[in-house]
Amino acid sequence: MNRHFRLMILVFALSLAAGCATNPITGETELMLLSEDQDVQIGRQYAPEIEKQMGGRIPDQAIQNYINSVGQKIARVSHNQSFKYEFTALQDKSVNAFALPGGYIFITRGMLLSLQTEAQLAGILAHEVTHVVARDVANAMSTQIGIELLLSAVTSEKTPQTALTVAQLGTQIMSLRFSRQDEREADLGGLDYMIAAGYNPYGMVECMDMLAALNEQRPIEFLSTHPAPENRSAYLKQSIMTKQISLPNTIIGKEEYTTAVRSRLN
Ligand SMILES: [Zn+2]
Repeated sequence: MNRHFRLMILVFALSLAAGCATNPITGETELMLLSEDQDVQIGRQYAPEIEKQMGGRIPDQAIQNYINSVGQKIARVSHNQSFKYEFTALQDKSVNAFALPGGYIFITRGMLLSLQTEAQLAGILAHEVTHVVARDVANAMSTQIGIELLLSAVTSEKTPQTALTVAQLGTQIMSLRFSRQDEREADLGGLDYMIAAGYNPYGMVECMDMLAALNEQRPIEFLSTHPAPENRSAYLKQSIMTKQISLPNTIIGKEEYTTAVRSRLN
């Protein structure tokens, strides 16, 4: 069968399987080329490759458990409970965080060392959870990498060729770009999640200010793959002001973060 014909069949099969889906963050209907099951399959397939390319996991189970416990608090209040969320800290020195479809979320050593409080960590993880829930990653992968290539690495049997494809795509996945609109939604949706999980929402504002300041010194990876919308902290502050929050009762967790992460990384 020629390649073009196979692609047509694949696209047809996918349009039957997937089609449109409602984005729970915006309530809008979006064309989705992948089903949620495929999101999970893709995430599961690519997660080990991403870990490998980013220097592996930080070899400290206490740090991993802490990151995961903060992440699970956010995941529990998200719009999509069917994904099995997993939060992993990676050795890479870049200042970055990113997500794979289906709930695989990563944060780097460089980012962990740039943060000061648990609320800031929650802000970064909430931003990534929102990308997963809105299925921005799956969308970006299917349009920017190509759905045929993407699925060829998932559906076909494990061959050396498959392994090569996964390795090559791993690099591309880390340079996926989202639209400004997606970023704004991930910020504001993530803000709602962190508030629902009991965190001080200014943690996210502080993150954005910190990243913007670091970015003045050198390009920050998180901001290069996430085209920064203008006035991030301004629209976050504005959104916080419209909500009824008893700030003294929210979690900041500076000591907790220092003990659980900073002191162990240094
Ligand atoms: Zn983002």
